[in-house]
Amino acid sequence: MPVLFYVRLVGFTVGALVYLFLLALIIGHRRPRLFERLLFFLVFSLFLLYSGGLLEINARMQYTSAPEATRLLYTSLITLGFLFLSGLLVHVHLQYYRLLRPSAVPGWCVVMVSVFYALPFLDLLLPIFTFRRLPTLNVQSLLYLLRPQDAVGIISAILICAVADFYIAKASRDLSERRFFYSLCTISIVTLVPLALWQGFATLAPNRGEAITTALVAAGILPGALLIYYALRRNFLEFGAQRNLVYALSATFLALLYLALVRRVGGWLEPILPPEATASILLFVLIFLFEPVERLIGPALHRTIRQRIDRMQQLMVEVQVEARSGDIGQLIDFTGRRLRDAFGLADVKISVPVPAGQEPLESPGGLGHVVRVPILQDGATIGLIEASSTGAVLTGEVSASLSFVAEQLPAAIDLCRLIGEKLKLERELAERERLALVGQMAASISHNLRNPLGSMKTVLQVLLEKPDLPQDIHADCALVVAEIDRLSAKLRQLLQYAKPSLPSAAERRRVAALAAIEQVIALLGREAERRQGALELVRPADEVYVFGSEEALNDVVSNLVVNAIEALPHGGKVRVSASLRDGRLAVEVEDNGPGISPDSQKRIFQPFFTTKASGTGLGLAIVERRLAEMGGSIEWESPIRDGCGTRFTVTLLLAE
Ligand code: ADP
Ligand code: MG
Repeated sequence: MPVLFYVRLVGFTVGALVYLFLLALIIGHRRPRLFERLLFFLVFSLFLLYSGGLLEINARMQYTSAPEATRLLYTSLITLGFLFLSGLLVHVHLQYYRLLRPSAVPGWCVVMVSVFYALPFLDLLLPIFTFRRLPTLNVQSLLYLLRPQDAVGIISAILICAVADFYIAKASRDLSERRFFYSLCTISIVTLVPLALWQGFATLAPNRGEAITTALVAAGILPGALLIYYALRRNFLEFGAQRNLVYALSATFLALLYLALVRRVGGWLEPILPPEATASILLFVLIFLFEPVERLIGPALHRTIRQRIDRMQQLMVEVQVEARSGDIGQLIDFTGRRLRDAFGLADVKISVPVPAGQEPLESPGGLGHVVRVPILQDGATIGLIEASSTGAVLTGEVSASLSFVAEQLPAAIDLCRLIGEKLKLERELAERERLALVGQMAASISHNLRNPLGSMKTVLQVLLEKPDLPQDIHADCALVVAEIDRLSAKLRQLLQYAKPSLPSAAERRRVAALAAIEQVIALLGREAERRQGALELVRPADEVYVFGSEEALNDVVSNLVVNAIEALPHGGKVRVSASLRDGRLAVEVEDNGPGISPDSQKRIFQPFFTTKASGTGLGLAIVERRLAEMGGSIEWESPIRDGCGTRFTVTLLLAE
């Protein structure tokens, strides 16, 4: 029998601790919903039960007959714990099921929950009905009346919970949630056995009754322990890994045990030593224990700290490696993602720099906790790291790690920027070398081809003049002449592209822009007519002078206009308009062709990208290069109206 007594003592202590720990976990939850509130009260009820039991069992150890006040205290704790237990059990389960499946909980369940809440008070009302008078209301009689008379209420509540657990587990899609509820269902069913025995065999021999009570005390701890395990290990209910809380609770527990030991030993030694002396000795012993204890737990502590530091260093190494890509956007994305995974956060947002008017990060549904850490460089804020949890308060460890990353990030960003610039220079150099090669090739090809082409064309033109040339040969000759023209145009474009660029701004001259544009229009007007299209120029009356070279301007406008003409539908129209805008010359080339397809939009400026059967893909690349040389810029829009049409707008610097 004393064995069972001590088992119960341990059981009550552990139970009180388990539910105290859960209380701390739930309080750590930032903005609790109804479910968390209900769970809080349920855990609180269980905590009251276990702490009341603990007090009672301690009192029995201490006194042969407990003083009135003590008895009143533990009776109230236990009664209060029991009072709403069945109601809360059922309510919490239904509320969880409702979170999972909002429409699956029928209306009568609300009535059922209310009945469970009301059950304990029925005993209070009974005397009023039977004796037709108010019961004498002092604390003792109230406690006596509210004290659970039998276990029927709690048995039915647990039965309902077991069924609910089963349904929740079945409806759940999350593996650890499902496991949790299947385990909970099993525990509930197992708990029902001692409860039923208790209800049925209350008159059993006292030692058997005691065994049942002990079993109940033990069974009541299991759901709490299970919840703690799943909350800490699997982040169930999203309380987060509150490791510091575990440490704090363990330390408190040890301190309490030691105090109990001090008291106990003091009691035993009382005949020979005053208790104060024993207490002092035992507390002083701690000082001598300090060194060995530190040596004992030192390595473990060291290992934990090492692990944390290693984890952060590993993360920073990965960030440094990522910085070598030379892409700052990618680096920032990567860092955010790694932080989120490393600490199980709901979201991490890194902004460098912080855009004006940016909305602050919110946790999902506003339920969690958000931490903001500025990124500083040379004392100035260059960005912001924001992290949010799903529910729990973010621990000091997370904030410290975020600060660590915020300190290291500027160096990584600088590295990334330097590498990015180096890569860009290398690419440009390679491109220039490639162009030089293409240029040489193009020059030699055109040199070798142009003259023979010219002679061929002359011969054919002379042939075409002959009046007695048969009709079919005349047509063929005309076709060959047209082909020669096309070939020449392509060669010209290749030469344009390969032409060495103007080396410096000093070589830019004052160019009469409108005259140059007009020349192009006159030349290409015929081409437009040949395609049954129209080419129109709108210009200011006075000449406008820009910086650049006539040739470059010619290249820009002719390539844009040729593209526009080539895009024209039958009877379409190309409009070129020049105007002064913000102290610059703006030249718009607009057509009513089909527009640029979404697939090609990103690539039209790439050299050799073309969607035309006989295109070179060099036109827009030439335009871009010439504009870069002249210090101009280009924008475009497509489609411009009703899903078709394209408008290129070139802006040129004025030469005043
Ligand atoms: P090319 O004309 O030899 O194809 P470009 O560099 O001049 O090469 O043009 C690249 C591509 O851009 C074209 O193949 C075409 O798909 C698209 N494009 C350019 N201008 C227009 C336009 N005005 N309307 C529709 N598509 C255009
Ligand atoms: Mg073109």
